[in-house]
Amino acid sequence: MRTGFPDFRLGSVLATSFTGTLSERHGNAVERIPTPHRLVDWLAVNGLAVDSCTTAQLELARELRESIHAAATAAAIQDALPASAVQVINDRSAQGRAAAILTPGGERRWRLGSASCVEDALGVIAADAISIIAGERDGKLALCASPTCQAAFFDTSQSRTRKWCDMNTCGNRQKKARFNANQRKNPRSAE
Ligand SMILES: [Zn+2]
Repeated sequence: MRTGFPDFRLGSVLATSFTGTLSERHGNAVERIPTPHRLVDWLAVNGLAVDSCTTAQLELARELRESIHAAATAAAIQDALPASAVQVINDRSAQGRAAAILTPGGERRWRLGSASCVEDALGVIAADAISIIAGERDGKLALCASPTCQAAFFDTSQSRTRKWCDMNTCGNRQKKARFNANQRKNPRSAE
């Protein structure tokens, strides 16, 4: 891993892990793929290793990311999907040439095409977004309850009542904010 850059927040759902590379969208936003190399790192961690990435490809990736964010947010609040976001997701999905490969151990891996690898990786991410937005998978799209975050995440909890996109960051931050607010209301309890 390269140092000096914000670390990645990794989740179990590819498409929403990808939208999580820009966090705190409604607060002090943190860009976790600020350079093409960081996108290469992120893809490698997520089983989509590519040889290289240009600035133009990073722009394509960010455009896809924000399109998935917009479409997933609309789906979470049962709003109409924004047409431009749907177009970008479909274009990226159609232009990817990745193949699903079954390993001898019975796991699914992605094999990217030889030439335009970043585009192939984005195709896999776009297809993953399509499957969750289309409601094909077991889970429910929801928005993070943290006001500075409001990220769309895929809730696979049994009760479908998850509140935060990430318990370790947004969940803890909210708990701390509530705790501090209570301390202010009851200064004595701080003793
Ligand atoms: Zn959050």
